[in-house]
Amino acid sequence: MIPASFKYAAARSVEEAVGLLADQPDAKVLAGGHSLLPLMKLRLANPAVLVDINRIPGLDYIREDQQIGRLRIGALARHIDFERSDLIRNRYPMLWEAARGIGDPLVRNRGTMAGSVAHADPASDWPAALLATNGEVVATSPRGERVLPIDGLYVAILTTSLNPDELVTEVRVPIPDPRTGSAYEKLERKVGDYAVIGVGVQVSFNEAGTIANAGIGLCNAGSTSIKARRAEAFLVGKPPAPDNINEAARLAMEDSDPVEDDRGPVDYKRAMVRELTRRALSRAFHRAQGGN
Ligand SMILES: Cc1cc2nc3c(=O)[nH]c(=O)nc-3n(C[C@H](O)[C@H](O)[C@H](O)COP(=O)(O)OP(=O)(O)OC[C@H]3O[C@@H](n4cnc5c(N)ncnc54)[C@H](O)[C@@H]3O)c2cc1C
Repeated sequence: MIPASFKYAAARSVEEAVGLLADQPDAKVLAGGHSLLPLMKLRLANPAVLVDINRIPGLDYIREDQQIGRLRIGALARHIDFERSDLIRNRYPMLWEAARGIGDPLVRNRGTMAGSVAHADPASDWPAALLATNGEVVATSPRGERVLPIDGLYVAILTTSLNPDELVTEVRVPIPDPRTGSAYEKLERKVGDYAVIGVGVQVSFNEAGTIANAGIGLCNAGSTSIKARRAEAFLVGKPPAPDNINEAARLAMEDSDPVEDDRGPVDYKRAMVRELTRRALSRAFHRAQGGN
C-alpha cells in the first residue's frame, strides 16, 4: 500500500503545468488525488512525476457564460462546490444530485469534476451525467486549446482520447433551454459507495409539448460510461407518456453492457438500468413541466 517513488512538482500556472507534462512523458496530473493515489498505492499507476495543479489560482470557478451559452467549470471545482452551489441546485438539478451522491464528504471535499472526467472510470458519476447534457472538455497543451465533446472521449476503461500532455482546464455544459428538466438516479449498496448503477437524464420540450431533446448517460453499466443513444432517439418528437418512458427505459437497458461483480449479477444490473432510467425520466419530465 505504499506507492513507488516519484518526483513531485507543484505548478503555479496552467502554462507551467502543461510545460511539465510535455517535458516528462510519464507524468500525471494530481488534482483531488482520490482516484490517482489509490491506484498508485496499489501500484496500478506508477507515474514518474506528479504535476500538482492545486496551487494554480483561478481554476475553481463554476459560472454561466451567456456569450458561449455554456456553464463553465474550472479544473479545480470540487464535488462539494456543486453541492453548495445555488446555481447548480436550481438550474442544473441533475448535476446537484450527482454531486451529492459521490463518495463521502472527504471525497467530495477534494475530488474534482475535471479529474473524474479525465480518469474515465465507468463507475464514476460525472461522466454519465455529462453525457446526458452533451458536455465538453477544454484540453490545454503547449499546442493551445481544443474543445472535445465528452461523447467520444471515452475509448476504454480508464482511457480517454486526451493526449498525455493535455490538461483538462475546463468542463462545459450547454446552458439548458427554458423547458428543460434533469435528474440523476443512483443505486448504491451503502452510503459512500460507488454506484451499482447510475443514470443521468436531461430532457427538453418544444412549444407543442413534445420532446425536443433527450440525453441519457449510464454509470457503471459497461466498460466505459455509456450514452443511451437508442433511447434518446426514440423519445424525440414524442409526448412524455408512460408507454414512451417505459420503452425508452427498455432501450437504455438494451444499450447497457454491465459485468457481474460484487455489486450484483448482469441481469440484476440491467434491470436496474431500466428502472433507474424510468425514474430519472419521470422526474426530469416533471421538472421540465415546471415541477420540482
Ligand atoms: C472512497 C472513495 C469513494 C468514491 N466514490 C465515488 C463515487 O461514488 N462516485 C464517483 O464518481 N467517484 C467516486 N470516487 C472517486 C472520486 O470522485 C475522485 O475524486 C474522482 O474520480 C477523481 O477526481 P480527482 O480530482 O480526485 O482526480 P485525481 O485522483 O487527482 O486524478 C485522477 C486521474 O485524472 C487525471 N487528472 C486529474 N485532473 C486532471 C486534469 N485537470 N486534466 C487531465 N488529467 C487530470 C490524473 O492524472 C489521474 O490520472 C471515490 C473515491 C474514493 C477514494
